[in-house]
Amino acid sequence: MSTSSATMLENTLVNLRRSIELGRFPDTLYKVLSKPERAVIASIPVRMDDGRIEVFEAYRVQHCSVLGPYKGGVRFHPNVTLEDDIALATIMTLKNSLANLPYGGGKGAVRVDQRSLSRRELEELSRGYVRAFYPVLGELLDIPGPDAGTDPQVMAWMVDECCKMSCRPSPASFTGKPVELGGDPVRLYATGFGCAVVTKLAAEEFLGSSKNSTLAIQGFGNVGSWHAYWASKMGFKVIAISDIGGTIFDPNGIDVEKALQIARESGTVRNYPAEQHFNDTKMALFVEADVVAADALENQITRENAQKVKAKLVIEGANAPVTPEAEKILTERGVTVIPDILANAGGVITSYFEWAQNIQRWSWGEEETRSRLTRFMEYNFNRVKERWKTLKLERGNVTLRDAALVTALERIYAAMKLRGWL
Ligand code: GLU
Repeated sequence: MSTSSATMLENTLVNLRRSIELGRFPDTLYKVLSKPERAVIASIPVRMDDGRIEVFEAYRVQHCSVLGPYKGGVRFHPNVTLEDDIALATIMTLKNSLANLPYGGGKGAVRVDQRSLSRRELEELSRGYVRAFYPVLGELLDIPGPDAGTDPQVMAWMVDECCKMSCRPSPASFTGKPVELGGDPVRLYATGFGCAVVTKLAAEEFLGSSKNSTLAIQGFGNVGSWHAYWASKMGFKVIAISDIGGTIFDPNGIDVEKALQIARESGTVRNYPAEQHFNDTKMALFVEADVVAADALENQITRENAQKVKAKLVIEGANAPVTPEAEKILTERGVTVIPDILANAGGVITSYFEWAQNIQRWSWGEEETRSRLTRFMEYNFNRVKERWKTLKLERGNVTLRDAALVTALERIYAAMKLRGWL
């Protein structure tokens, strides 16, 4: 049983085991999926601006390839561990399967506070990452994309390093690139946009309507900021936002574009002239709102604070922000949780679109990608909802996460059997 001090990997395995039992899959499936196929550790030396050499620990975890090449982001974060990276890669296997993408799951990470690096140091580190893992990367083998702490510029340096090493253009070997280098114009905001589409569908399904529903968002990085932007365009009233500087709360509604501009210029949304300000960076999760979105990092809603959630609907924009114990408490209280592998899949789905366009040397244009992404998100939401209904009839008490995981596992299990792995 997990506790609030349980690691993200322990929590991920609790969810995996539960869904394998619920879906009546054989235990061997758990045995295979509870370990990554390959995990590589590297040390990346970087000459710092003051002449010193700093060595950064880096990982690339290749969790499961039964459905295709490994796919998942690279995270730059000071506290990330190999164990976290394994958990995140496992989540990618399940997310990619649920979205029907032709991918397995992978994830990379570097233990670094990227905000403390100069631009030149960040470039060195990004290029060093590619040199370190080059033998196990490639457009048909393992395709990294962005995650927390990495952005289109980092992906540009990475793809450039890869092209230099292979002496040929290979735009499809990384996704989340700037548009000028073959990036899809939607990819930058795709995760938040996808979250907004799912938030709307979930509000209609579980709250009766989305029109003027109030939304509070924890996290104002790539996911949370675009989630807020698109949800407000879709008719939600954003009333609270938290970031590293604290929380702003305004029951009359926050002007999201203004908040974005202030956060961009001053480094935190805290400087927005809201009705109320809190130092607490988690406060948005606990305000009086119809929907709350956990768009920051993992392990945010835990056994200790789950009682404080007042909303009826929780959206997991980040990976694993709600622990299994917290989810149990929320479910008992009648709160619905939209799981990460469904809610935040818009990022990797658009990475898939980018990859497919790069391979075809084709460009669909922004409108076309966005409407395809909307269709994918709607289709996935409805599929999970239907599976949830049938599972409830078969097994009684099940969550949407159970239904999403069972749906993802059905495809993985079928592929493993067909290939003779099980
Ligand atoms: N970091 C994204 C996620 O957690 C996916 C990255 C990618 O596009 O490969 O879903």
